[in-house]
Amino acid sequence: MNTVAENRHDQEWLGGTSTGHVMQPGEVDISHKVILYLEGISVSFDGFKALNNLNLTIDAGELRCIIGPNGAGKTTMMDVITGKTRPDAGRCYFGQTIDLTTLREAEIAHAGIGRKFQKPTIFENLSVFENLELALKMDKRARTSLFAWLGDDQRDKISDTLKQIRLDTEAERPAGLLSHGQKQWLEIGMLLVQDPKLLLLDEPVAGMTDDETARTGELFKSLAGKHSLVVVEHDMAFIEQLGGKVTVLHEGSVLAEGDLATVQNDERVIEVYLGR
Ligand code: ADP
Ligand code: MG
Repeated sequence: MNTVAENRHDQEWLGGTSTGHVMQPGEVDISHKVILYLEGISVSFDGFKALNNLNLTIDAGELRCIIGPNGAGKTTMMDVITGKTRPDAGRCYFGQTIDLTTLREAEIAHAGIGRKFQKPTIFENLSVFENLELALKMDKRARTSLFAWLGDDQRDKISDTLKQIRLDTEAERPAGLLSHGQKQWLEIGMLLVQDPKLLLLDEPVAGMTDDETARTGELFKSLAGKHSLVVVEHDMAFIEQLGGKVTVLHEGSVLAEGDLATVQNDERVIEVYLGR
């Protein structure tokens, strides 16, 4: 017997779904409210299981925090989602129909998954505006030449993004002169101009001042809903500010999941963090 997902998939090939909505190329099917689905994911490095039967479901529009001690597998999980590392076992879906384990890194980015690495990869000699312009033009869906003039829509998009990341007064400054926190925001902006449906952020507030951290929290909360966010962090005050569901990873699997207070009071979580 076919599963619901398979039926839907068949119908899409026939040109429509039961609700009459025809999926467009590049569209992500979130009809079941799920944007990311990991089931039984395992990754081994020389026999060491960095991920061990990991299960994770992220709802569309959700803001999820992932915590866990060093070596728990948090970064490896992001590597699997973005196609940098292939799992030895398990399923990894973007929406109902996109099997991420069959796509290359560039195809995954193109499908709408943006990743922010710990170290910013901005162009220090270009202005803040030019960095965003470049990111916009590098988006393959835009199909614009690097040398083409920006259209009005593209200018609006950059100016909206500048306000969102609080760099509208710094637009003409060389990116290399920004503070550490501002550089992180710029890199987030470079992802945002490409309209990702899912954003993966690995330790985004590391090295930020308290003020920058709080502003980053506000930014992420404002992005949730329109985007889905998966945030790996250690900073508990920041996680509390975000206020979403928290998943605790340990030895490559989920140890606990729930609101921050619940996982913080979980005996197994306390044991893992305090090493008792
Ligand atoms: P976290 O981000 O939670 O600190 P990682 O996902 O970076 O953890 O690492 C999980 C485990 O997998 C660690 O023990 C790490 O040393 C190991 N690991 C990660 N990437 C590789 C790799 N490319 N080769 C070998 N071991 C790796
Ligand atoms: Mg890591």
